Amino acid sequence: MLKAYKYRIYPNKEQELQLAKTFGCCRFVYNQTLAYRKTAYEKEKKSISKTDCNNYCNRELKKEYQWLKEVDKFALTNAIYNMDSAYQKFFKENASYPKFKSKYDNHKSYTTNFTNGNIALDFCNEKIKLPKLKEIKAKIHRNFTGQIKSATVSQVPSGKYYVSILVETEYIKKPDVTSKVGLDLGIKDLYITSDGKKYENPKVIKKYERKLIKLQRQLSHKEKGSNNYQKKRKQLALCHEKIANTRKDYLHKISSEIINENQVIVSENLQIKNMVKNHNLAKSITDVSWYELTRQLEYKAKWNGRIYVKIDSFYASSQLCSSCGYQNKETKDLSVRQWKCPKCKEIHDRDINAAKNILTQGLKQIA
Ligand SMILES: [Zn+2]
Repeated sequence: MLKAYKYRIYPNKEQELQLAKTFGCCRFVYNQTLAYRKTAYEKEKKSISKTDCNNYCNRELKKEYQWLKEVDKFALTNAIYNMDSAYQKFFKENASYPKFKSKYDNHKSYTTNFTNGNIALDFCNEKIKLPKLKEIKAKIHRNFTGQIKSATVSQVPSGKYYVSILVETEYIKKPDVTSKVGLDLGIKDLYITSDGKKYENPKVIKKYERKLIKLQRQLSHKEKGSNNYQKKRKQLALCHEKIANTRKDYLHKISSEIINENQVIVSENLQIKNMVKNHNLAKSITDVSWYELTRQLEYKAKWNGRIYVKIDSFYASSQLCSSCGYQNKETKDLSVRQWKCPKCKEIHDRDINAAKNILTQGLKQIA
């Protein structure tokens, strides 16, 4: 099984320069080969493969632009292959036409492949060896065993550098259990399970959210391009990063717990398209969390032989009585937190009841 391990790296000045050069060269060959392909198609109706593009880079581009030889050759090939996947997506999945990469795109990355020990981790001395860079200082918070396949180096908008190491590793499956659980995306709490467990948003995220709003407001008052503007923009990027990292850590804890304890997991299938349209900050952050949680559940279920089912989000999970099936339209009002079923007199917590219905619906679906 392939698993990625991500570490923060601390390049020195010389290494920073080499990284900037590699990011730049990757962008350059991406754009050049995209243009090459586009022209060939428009002028001669000729379609060009990714191997042709790579040959064009090696034979023509590298001759004309000697500085391309100063960076890692795998990084350039992978940049061309990325361009090719964007191109394939355009044809097969009706995606938009691949765009040329801008110098001002502030998320930079490149991928290099393992060969003859060119990528290596020194767990004791906390160093990572990468092609053309020698050893870079790193924060190695976890070890791994297995064969390294590739490494992706990235620089995020706040300026920090990371490397993600892809490793072929053996995974030991968790033992089978018998419990089944339904999950509801809450309004007050983040997630509620059918057995009554409630997961709140970590308090620290609220704090960062307030800071985010403040920084956004401050940024809007600064003159675009000025030093103060750049400074604020960096603080804002850092704040976004902190929220994303805190959220991810927390969600990993939740998804692992759910997978550990249950053999069958059911949730709603929320459409990400509808989510993005929402402009309320708190709501959009919850939505992103939900999307990320379902993503984690999906792959962790696969690793451990669990069954993860997503049910149609139009299913009226919050209106049905989970005990007798009576439909209570009054619960459409979101402010109704607790209700008594008029038919069987059972008293329901709104969210736990919904999670129970989601579980029932999911079990029907797999039966
Ligand atoms: Zn009832």
